[in-house]
Amino acid sequence: MTTQSPTELAALTTLSEDERLFRDSVYEFADREIRPLVREMDEHAKIPRPLIDKLFELGVMGIEIPDGYGGAGATFFHSVLAVEALSRVDPSIGVLVDVQNTLVINALLRWGTDDIKRRHLPKMAAGTIGAYALSEAGSGSDAFAMATRAAERGGDWAITGRKLWITNGNEADLFIVFANVNPEAGYRGITAFLVERGMAGFTVGKKEDKLGIRASSTCELLLEECKVPRANVLGEVGKGYKVAIETLNEGRIGIGAQMLGLAQGALDHTIRYTRDRKQFGKAIVEFQAVKHQLARAATDVEAARLLVYNAARLRDAGLPFLTEAAMCKLFASEVAERTASLAVNLHGGNGFVKEYPVEKLYRDAKIGQIYEGTTNLQLETIAKQVLG
Ligand SMILES: Cc1cc2nc3c(=O)[nH]c(=O)nc-3n(C[C@H](O)[C@H](O)[C@H](O)COP(=O)(O)OP(=O)(O)OC[C@H]3O[C@@H](n4cnc5c(N)ncnc54)[C@H](O)[C@@H]3O)c2cc1C
Repeated sequence: MTTQSPTELAALTTLSEDERLFRDSVYEFADREIRPLVREMDEHAKIPRPLIDKLFELGVMGIEIPDGYGGAGATFFHSVLAVEALSRVDPSIGVLVDVQNTLVINALLRWGTDDIKRRHLPKMAAGTIGAYALSEAGSGSDAFAMATRAAERGGDWAITGRKLWITNGNEADLFIVFANVNPEAGYRGITAFLVERGMAGFTVGKKEDKLGIRASSTCELLLEECKVPRANVLGEVGKGYKVAIETLNEGRIGIGAQMLGLAQGALDHTIRYTRDRKQFGKAIVEFQAVKHQLARAATDVEAARLLVYNAARLRDAGLPFLTEAAMCKLFASEVAERTASLAVNLHGGNGFVKEYPVEKLYRDAKIGQIYEGTTNLQLETIAKQVLG
């Protein structure tokens, strides 16, 4: 008989000492440094650079980067904890950190050559922000139908095309850009390139004016014969589809964490508000109808947390997690929308005005069902796995 350590036998939500300290320190940072700026960042649609610098100092911008490259040398699960803790206060900061870690750094670690790792990981841990550019105006869900092309130029590459809705586009210096080098081969022509701000032929275009996560930048990218050295191909030529699929499978656990944090934040605000707000001579939380609505929301949030943590732990254990990742993103984004909607209802008129924080969370929740695979696409993935 094998013996299991107490940690192995514990609940999915049981954190190791190190995980708990990390999660708590990120949440304390968010509460202290981010919370006072949330409304202003939403109104101005901008994250101040000094706050971004503090995120680097905190160590959440290079969570899985090994110590040797200046990172925190932690796990994917730590990234999920950080995204959850930050999104509990501001989902815009949550997605900045999420894209940096679960998409860009993750792809560099998995697919980067030693040369790429040496050139980019120390910078990513110290101050460089990354972005992940797959979508285009004509290819969102059907991402591999992209029109961006790359052609060989004396051993190097020239990329031409337009990317749309790219998170962190305004702040990023390093962009993973997907382009097709051989359209006749279909998705087998797709290749991932590292494009750096300042390269000739590359410009960041318009920044979108959005419903929610307004402080997170979402930009168009324009590439016109953008010369990219051969050494900047990430993974193999023609295997970019694998880079995209595999990083997005993991990235969507991060979006699950963002939506989980958002739902928890909405619930926190609502528990506090319903205890303070008096109607008919008592706190509204005393009405059984309200208590039960909050109990249901707390159950939703706990179920989302179990799905998100399970998917992240499976990923770190090297076990299959495709279905679980799709389920956690699907469910957590629906829970975020339901919980934020309840939060607005239970704040009454105050839920509808900007002086209170929940109307923003209600707006922020919507994106969870759209990016990194819409709800319908998650259902397709789950159905394929479950039904064969
Ligand atoms: C704020 C924001 C940030 C983003 N960040 C990034 C980023 O950093 N990098 C990046 O590459 N992209 C990013 N995106 C793009 C995002 O991933 C796409 O918007 C998303 O994948 C959906 O694509 P689409 O908008 O073209 O919608 P469409 O694909 O046109 O979908 C429209 C509707 O049709 C449904 N639909 C489509 N195909 C099917 C099908 N086969 N079966 C059933 N229903 C279907 C969808 O579910 C959806 O409801 C971002 C988008 C936003 C809004």
